[in-house]
Amino acid sequence: MDNDFTSQAAPVTVIGLGLMGRALAAAFLRAGHPTTVFNRTPARADQLVAQGAQLAPTVADALRAGPLAIICVTDYQAMHHLLDPISAELHGRTLINLTSGTSAQAREAGSWARRQGAHYLDGAIMAIPPAIGTAEAVLLHSGPQSDFESHRTTLDALGTVTHLGADLGLASLYDAAGLGIMWSVLNAWLQGAALLRAADIDAAVYTPFAQQMVTSVAQWLPGYAEQLDRGSYPADDATLDIHTAAMSHLIEESETHGVSAELPKLIKALADRSIAAGHGGESYAALIEEFSKAHGADRG
Ligand code: NAP
Repeated sequence: MDNDFTSQAAPVTVIGLGLMGRALAAAFLRAGHPTTVFNRTPARADQLVAQGAQLAPTVADALRAGPLAIICVTDYQAMHHLLDPISAELHGRTLINLTSGTSAQAREAGSWARRQGAHYLDGAIMAIPPAIGTAEAVLLHSGPQSDFESHRTTLDALGTVTHLGADLGLASLYDAAGLGIMWSVLNAWLQGAALLRAADIDAAVYTPFAQQMVTSVAQWLPGYAEQLDRGSYPADDATLDIHTAAMSHLIEESETHGVSAELPKLIKALADRSIAAGHGGESYAALIEEFSKAHGADRG
């Protein structure tokens, strides 16, 4: 079977040697994989070549070097720019696309790759380049399970790899959800840092408390997830009415101290709409109705 490369020394090609692509190729080299690389700007391969990588002169040569190619470039347009002219070379090979994009782009790329006779997995990297090759680097994949399993041992060199399901769009959807969580936590932390700064408290002093809060809130999620999946939101802890009153305090504190109240106002506007829709006596999880409505409106 042409795709059953489960040995640790399976050859791999990495296309795209930006900050992330170089980290991916370096991790494969460290794990002992014969690694072929290609980049539009070849000089970016210099250090990898010194570490043992083979630099392919063209992207077609890079694909021909083995059965598995990983591509990680700026966006899907860049991927098509590189691969469309030589797409026949994909036939019978596996392409794993770790370029960030939307779920629609991932599904379209899957159809395009199938038309070339290629196996295709999409992926998302939830890590920064220095973490690649450590367990801290989380890499999400979606697409046919059998294609993932065929190359799992090779992918393990990159970090903690997960297969989310056959739907090619899942890796991008999880990526988007993860980024939303990241920015929400960072913005909330910054809002608090600005408030405490107004009282001459350094961020370093405030931050252990912020970490405790993030950990506590994370522990509420499984219980709220059950409510979301059931579609009923009993207020076992606090009602949305009570939360909303506290949001007013955050807005007032922010305005008093000359701190931006934009974000808390946005959060309160969402909660106010949910209360107007009759959810004031329910738990915070009832806000899902507002998020789902916005999704429906976007599609409409
Ligand atoms: P980067 O350092 O800017 O590198 C971009 C890569 O794309 C380079 O290899 C560049 O080639 C190539 N490229 C861009 N346009 C091209 C085109 N038209 N034709 C051929 N090659 C083209 O970006 P990066 O940080 O490596 O990110 C790559 C992907 O990983 C992105 O989708 C990013 O969202 C994702 N990602 C990055 C991080 C991170 O922390 N860096 C984390 C998670 C996910 P040249 O060298 O020739 O310009």
